[in-house]
Amino acid sequence: MKLRIGQGIDFHRLENGITLWLGGVSIASEKGCVAHSDGDVLLHAICDALLGAAGLSDIGHQFPDTDQEFKNIDSKILLRRTFELITKSGFSVVNIDSTVCLEKPKIAPYIASMKETIAGILGIDQSDVSVKATTTEKMGFTGRGEGVVAIAVALLNG
Ligand SMILES: [Zn+2]
Repeated sequence: MKLRIGQGIDFHRLENGITLWLGGVSIASEKGCVAHSDGDVLLHAICDALLGAAGLSDIGHQFPDTDQEFKNIDSKILLRRTFELITKSGFSVVNIDSTVCLEKPKIAPYIASMKETIAGILGIDQSDVSVKATTTEKMGFTGRGEGVVAIAVALLNG
């Protein structure tokens, strides 16, 4: 058994009138993420953590935002394709830990369905997926509601 760790971080700008997707779940919010894809900052950070652990570069390399194929794409498809890439390289997922940093709305009511969605795609138990939330105490761009940040760590076995 060879364990490999990877980390991922992603940022997106928030604007009014866009659906907010986090962890594959649509969140009731005035603002959503501006992006080439559906802007699911949490799934993007998890993809980067998985790709990093497997030594497969990053999400921008695997799924370029200049490619029309990925325009407005559901990020669950990107996570599924990332999972296929790491599986093809001989890795399986041990666990995921992640944190979403945004001022509002509170995402606690959505965390169970995010974990269920992520675990389902990665073929692991929901107890092996952790999603946490924090704010920056009204400081900086996240505090002003201008953007959202997600950070993830993935442990692979391969
Ligand atoms: Zn992103």
